[in-house]
Amino acid sequence: MNNRYSGSCLCGDVRFEIDGEFEHFYLCHCEYSRKDTGSAHAANLFSSIASLKWISGESNVRQFNLPATRHSKCFCNKCGSALPMMQMEGKLLVVPAGSLNSEIQNRPNAHIFIASKACWDDALDKVPVVSGFPS
Ligand SMILES: [Zn+2]
Repeated sequence: MNNRYSGSCLCGDVRFEIDGEFEHFYLCHCEYSRKDTGSAHAANLFSSIASLKWISGESNVRQFNLPATRHSKCFCNKCGSALPMMQMEGKLLVVPAGSLNSEIQNRPNAHIFIASKACWDDALDKVPVVSGFPS
């Protein structure tokens, strides 16, 4: 019995469904992931068994392959949101966790490439927490 997950980009043009389970969930702090997310780390789910189906907006999906590396990113051509993609010649599905609208049971397995983390990415769990805008 497979789970089905749905997701979309920020503008809503691109919608997708994923059937199957995620095997790994990594928070990647490498330079490429920091650049392509604009944040401290990427948060990607990985599956070698799940399938990806575009529900709408497939013509807006673009893929950027960083030359001379294995780093790729899929995104909406209209709003720039990160989107799922197949890697390793279609053998591995990579899903940005933030692109999902469904709840998932997975929790991150590890922070990876922590040796490449941003200079300000330090003791972030000690930073004050507020529920909305800072006052
Ligand atoms: Zn979009």
